[in-house]
Amino acid sequence: MNVLVVEDEERIAQFLRKGLTEKGYTVETVKDADSAMARFEMETFDLVILDLLLPGSRDGLDLCRALRARGVRSKILMLTARDTVENKIEGLDAGADDYLVKPFSFRELVARLRALARRTEVEEPGPIAFGDLTYDPESREVSREGERIRLTAREGALFELLLRRRGKVVSRSEIQARIWEDSFDLSTNIIDVYINALRKKIDSGERDKVIQTVRGVGYRLRPVGAEE
Ligand code: CA
Repeated sequence: MNVLVVEDEERIAQFLRKGLTEKGYTVETVKDADSAMARFEMETFDLVILDLLLPGSRDGLDLCRALRARGVRSKILMLTARDTVENKIEGLDAGADDYLVKPFSFRELVARLRALARRTEVEEPGPIAFGDLTYDPESREVSREGERIRLTAREGALFELLLRRRGKVVSRSEIQARIWEDSFDLSTNIIDVYINALRKKIDSGERDKVIQTVRGVGYRLRPVGAEE
């Protein structure tokens, strides 16, 4: 489990880094919302511990909303010194999964993280929304601007893998391992064939293309209409 700690108070950030590392988590710390967004450009985190009051133009609530608008599905635990029902509702409305009031006990924090981690292991059933489209894994149907597009089983599996990564790059080797279970040589162009088929069905005729090639690495989906 990797955790991103967004906390400007050095003492608390270090305390969390040390404690969580000892518990076996991989921990990174950043001090403000912009640095957190920059880290999310590069990586996926399972859990985010997010302080409500941050320096700079965006506070924890803004960051939380921005992450969710980008399709980030990491579990977010909000930390705050304020303890009112309104603050709690505000945090949860912004997309946080849980809420802990400072000062907190480290044992409670770890227990909350464990509970959140358990929830990440269960993939949410039902249609997946992404930018201007939704995908229903059960019917393998993409809805985009009122149009319904049916995918084959393999196309659906590939599209769902990209979707579940919410805008992160998925490497060709991972696509091969997850969708074809290493049953072919990576030098074949079968991934390109399937990506082209998806493009034809989902992106042809659209001004904003969802499926992007990241040269030399793999593919990712770009949310259409999401805030940058
Ligand atoms: Ca703070």
